[in-house]
Amino acid sequence: MDQPLDGPLRAPLSRRAWLRLLGTGAVSLYLRRAYGAPAVAPGDARASPIDRSLGETAPRAFSGDQPERPHRALWDKRAYLAARGGLPPVEKSVPLVVVGGGIAGLTTAYLLRRHGPVVLEQGARFGGNARGESWRGLDYAIGAAYFTAPEEGSPLRRLYGELGVDKIWRKAPGGHPVALEGRLVGDFWQGRSAPADRAQFRALARYFHRLYQEEGGLVYPEIPAYSRARRRHIDALDRISFRRHVESVAGGPLHPHLVTAFEHYCWSSFGASFSEVSAAAGLNFFAAEFGDILVTPGGNAAIAERLYARLDAALPPGHLQAGALVVDVRVAGDGVEVSYEDAAGALHRLRTRAAVLACPKFVAARLVDDLEPERLEAIRRLSYRAYLVANVLLTRKLPDSLYDLYLLGGGATDDKDIKAAAERQKATDVVFGTYAHPDARSSILTLYRPLPYDGARPALLADDAYDRYRAEFEAQLQETVLPLLDVRPEDVADLRLARWGHPLPVAATGLIADGTVDRLRRPLRDRVFFVQQDNWALPAIETATAEALHWAPRIARLLA
Ligand SMILES: Cc1cc2nc3c(=O)[nH]c(=O)nc-3n(C[C@H](O)[C@H](O)[C@H](O)COP(=O)(O)OP(=O)(O)OC[C@H]3O[C@@H](n4cnc5c(N)ncnc54)[C@H](O)[C@@H]3O)c2cc1C
Repeated sequence: MDQPLDGPLRAPLSRRAWLRLLGTGAVSLYLRRAYGAPAVAPGDARASPIDRSLGETAPRAFSGDQPERPHRALWDKRAYLAARGGLPPVEKSVPLVVVGGGIAGLTTAYLLRRHGPVVLEQGARFGGNARGESWRGLDYAIGAAYFTAPEEGSPLRRLYGELGVDKIWRKAPGGHPVALEGRLVGDFWQGRSAPADRAQFRALARYFHRLYQEEGGLVYPEIPAYSRARRRHIDALDRISFRRHVESVAGGPLHPHLVTAFEHYCWSSFGASFSEVSAAAGLNFFAAEFGDILVTPGGNAAIAERLYARLDAALPPGHLQAGALVVDVRVAGDGVEVSYEDAAGALHRLRTRAAVLACPKFVAARLVDDLEPERLEAIRRLSYRAYLVANVLLTRKLPDSLYDLYLLGGGATDDKDIKAAAERQKATDVVFGTYAHPDARSSILTLYRPLPYDGARPALLADDAYDRYRAEFEAQLQETVLPLLDVRPEDVADLRLARWGHPLPVAATGLIADGTVDRLRRPLRDRVFFVQQDNWALPAIETATAEALHWAPRIARLLA
């Protein structure tokens, strides 16, 4: 019999929820005060995940990560603390502290709101990678954009219902269009771009569709796994690469258009190559593309914003703090002490019964001095990839027959040199950013440009980074994207760039099968909990929410 795993791991779930069991204005935000802290008042609406203060023309600067302050404090924490006179004395006791206000931290805090959590977010706004901006009343994502339809009756579906997300989502059109050799190709999986090989395209499409529906004995690799048999199945898939698995399903080498489509999908969704990503992670994401994809105005920032608003209403003043950079977390006796620099640059120390580290693990490793060697080793096995996003503001309507359009160039990729190939390709896909709220006069395109190789971050931090990448986005727009969509250059009102330093943990082969993820996510001394997408090295809202749903009941028992 298929044994359920212990505890809330039985709760759903990730990309697809439990089918079988349940049937210039902005400039002020970045003004620096002492120690370069962002000038944001705690609990302020200005800390909401969607920035609606930018007006008609935004400053020519990156939004997204603002890395200077965390780098200054955490690259050499000892020197930082010495310069600040050491850790401050404990100021007060609170029941629960959540470190990080992305989707995982906000969801955990929301589920545990009756315990009065304090949520500390280092950024000027909550939302993490799920943040947005607005232009002419149209919200758009600067990071995470869409999610998969949750199963009716599942906890995730109930959560979306409670937040009212189900009132604003819109189903994306299917059809998987791509751009190839300067032309739009509708329904790529029918093999229209390669008629002689269309059987291979169709067989693979049929496979992904059937896998997602779990037809014909196929088992969709739900991550996190909710039973021992499913975990064994995931482990087996996790030992081989996504590429090897797809080639074995196809029964041989893939057509170059297919290789290009899979590469660009993996770059865009995982920040990693088709050969790096494990078959478990690759199938988990890619098969879900053959189910319903849901989109809200502002992308996943709309979900973060709803969580933020509910918490803002439920928690006492000062419990939602933006611009609060946590610098140290330590277990002390039967509690935990959390030290942070507030938005005005002052240091504080809180004592709490439990802490939730909803920040990435490479940050957790810097915050907690005495992490166990096996957890540190697991964290060292994770790599994180960088990302650029450009939003193109258009003074015209776009058809809403498309949502996510993959750019396949000439239909061939140099998969031996991913860095060179990605630098040649630049943006891999264009999302219709206003798909969920079309407007008669204006629309927004979002260009996703992953950097799917190690060592990309220094270029993003270089002095000329903004000018360089803006020029590259402009060139790709003029040469490829605008002609494809029949948009004139004079229809472009503005281009807004977001930069992300390490937003995506690489879903590399073996991390689940060899137990790395188990070492990453187990609580530290039953007091410090880890809740973030990198718990499973799987960068999706479903991982973040599934982990929150999994750990919140256990934390609640501790606090009871
Ligand atoms: C460009 C891009 C596009 C994406 N598109 C999609 C998509 O369409 N669909 C999808 O499902 N997923 C997408 N993702 C993945 C996305 O990362 C996840 O869906 C999800 O938003 C991750 O949430 P999280 O809370 O786990 O992590 P994060 O968003 O990384 O949140 C962690 C938070 O911790 C904070 N933090 C870090 N250090 C500290 C500290 N020392 N003190 C206090 N706070 C700290 C950070 O500022 C951040 O807010 C995309 C990601 C990117 C970058």
